[in-house]
Amino acid sequence: MAAFMSLVMLILLLSPILWGLWKLIRHVSMEFSGNTRVSVSSTTMLCKSCGNTARSVRLLRGNLRHEVLLWLLGILPGVIYSFWRDNGDFACSACGGKFLLDSDHRGH
Ligand SMILES: [Zn+2]
Repeated sequence: MAAFMSLVMLILLLSPILWGLWKLIRHVSMEFSGNTRVSVSSTTMLCKSCGNTARSVRLLRGNLRHEVLLWLLGILPGVIYSFWRDNGDFACSACGGKFLLDSDHRGH
């Protein structure tokens, strides 16, 4: 039973590390392909900066050099940074502006 518990603990401990490592690999390939879009919003947004009406995009935050450096310094800061990079704000797909309105609110 003790062996089983330690196995469970090991899996619980390793899964965020493996997930972070998977994110790191994905970030490397994204940076090299030049497409740093993490996700695209489900709704159409109006950009207040350029007037573009489109789905907004979430881009990778930070940069790859910091990410790799943190992974080399220690696994934990690397994992945290890799997760943080995926959680940027949604921005305009045309100009990168952060001031977005739901396109339903146009004409006020
Ligand atoms: Zn824009």
